[in-house]
Amino acid sequence: MNADEGQRERVDLLVVGIGQLATPKGNVALAGSRLGEVSTQERVAVACTKGRIVAVGDDQDLQRKYEAESVLDAEGGLVIPGLVDSHTHPVFAGTREGEFEARVGGTSYVEIAAQGGGIRSSLRGVRASSEQELTVGLLGRMDRFLSLGTTTVEAKTGYGLTVADELKGLDAIHSANRNHPVDLVATCLGGHDVPPEFDGRKEAWIDVVVQELWPAAQGKAAFADVFTESHVFGLEDSRRMMQAAKDLGFGLRMHVDQLTSLGGAELAAELGAASADHLEHVSESGMRALAESGVQPVLCPMVPLFLRETQEAPARAMVDFGCAPALSTDFNPGSCYCMSLFEVMSWAALRYGFSATEALTAATLNAAATLGLADDRGTIEPGKRADLVITDLPNFHHLTYELGRSPVCAVVKDGATVFQRSAHPKHAT
Ligand SMILES: [Zn+2]
Repeated sequence: MNADEGQRERVDLLVVGIGQLATPKGNVALAGSRLGEVSTQERVAVACTKGRIVAVGDDQDLQRKYEAESVLDAEGGLVIPGLVDSHTHPVFAGTREGEFEARVGGTSYVEIAAQGGGIRSSLRGVRASSEQELTVGLLGRMDRFLSLGTTTVEAKTGYGLTVADELKGLDAIHSANRNHPVDLVATCLGGHDVPPEFDGRKEAWIDVVVQELWPAAQGKAAFADVFTESHVFGLEDSRRMMQAAKDLGFGLRMHVDQLTSLGGAELAAELGAASADHLEHVSESGMRALAESGVQPVLCPMVPLFLRETQEAPARAMVDFGCAPALSTDFNPGSCYCMSLFEVMSWAALRYGFSATEALTAATLNAAATLGLADDRGTIEPGKRADLVITDLPNFHHLTYELGRSPVCAVVKDGATVFQRSAHPKHAT
């Protein structure tokens, strides 16, 4: 022990050897031309204590200043904030790979749904499962999210569609949240579809959602959600469900303009939703309404690929209108079986023309902002939650450049190292 060691400040964790640190900054979503404003620093360290970041600075300086309970060596790799997935449907039992094969063979999503597949097939799985079984499924999926660098996951119900089965799904989300390092943010997707026992009686199901489900979900879900499409819930149906949820204090997330241009974006703007999601078919007036109202688009670029649809969300136009988009996987068993936000960032680059820094902001700070968590996470700055992804990438450009491999070496959640890849092959350029 040398003479200064006694004076060094103690911290819980010091992440050293960071070749490059890349992070957006601040507590608000970055919109329009500011989307790509990401700060980069070379040869830095991050000090964390009590779950929070306390310092980000020169590697040598911080190693002199702090004595850490544990040290994690980034071995010269790129470090970014823990990724935030702001749109997933992880509460299900049973996968739908047969539908994937059918789509590959030329059957459409709508045809599969008409044959009893689609959302209705997932309904059967969730209704037949106990809360504990759903929790076990969620915990396994959260392990995979974490190994892919995602530290916060918005989790929707919507495959129960009875009051009891939706509440069972919300309870499973809370149970998984308590028992896993990944933070889950619960959304009640009571407006996912009309359940089969309400066939031809859509209004009666909307009554159940408004009068029974939303009140019962209070305190269990932060957000309420609806699938706004003419073949499911039209604009008036959606307005009624969302206004009732808003009156009860829920934040609103909405699946809008995914398959047709119905005006869902305009409705999300009118209602002051936290997010308007999908938007493949959003109109120009819809984009303008989102930008003017500050409602954030949540974009799911893997979904058209997975559904073999050709229409992409006009993401660049939304940015030009001044929107602050987030990127998400839309992970679910039917229309996107992908948990990797790294893959999503690459796809956003290739299909939307997002730069690596725009994609990074959209998968971190902007995604946190749609969940109301931007003052707590989404950037690597003192005071924020210590959620970090240590990669073996040489610089931030590789976030979008490299496809098909997880670059995650280690994940720090709330200041603790919660994932480490067993082998660390050095990045080969
Ligand atoms: Zn969705």
